[in-house]
Amino acid sequence: MKVSVPLGNDVYVEFEADTTKEIVDELTKIEELRTEPCGKCKKHNTFVRAKVVGDNVFYGMECRDCHAVLNYGVSKDKKPHVYKKRVEVDEQGKAVKDKDNKVTFLGVNGWVIYNKQTGKLE
Ligand SMILES: [Zn+2]
Repeated sequence: MKVSVPLGNDVYVEFEADTTKEIVDELTKIEELRTEPCGKCKKHNTFVRAKVVGDNVFYGMECRDCHAVLNYGVSKDKKPHVYKKRVEVDEQGKAVKDKDNKVTFLGVNGWVIYNKQTGKLE
């Protein structure tokens, strides 16, 4: 059967699936691409983008209004998929936890904006 999924901002993804399991598997991958309101300014003017800087490509969702970014990580699987980076991770890719053993969120639910004065993502 043919499945059509809205991602937001008039973008749709279509795929073929024979079983409900295949549909769930595909929806799980696609969910990370679904646009969401900006975590900083709360506006819905966001888009998915791949930003090329030199030899590197930075994937993420960006807000057209305040330029906040929700960065994507890319898995190291044979068929890489992207995921939204919402929590701080260490060099091994494991979530950084605070003294109460809770993960540390980046910015506002992963949405960060570059602060020119401090030189950091906040
Ligand atoms: Zn914004």
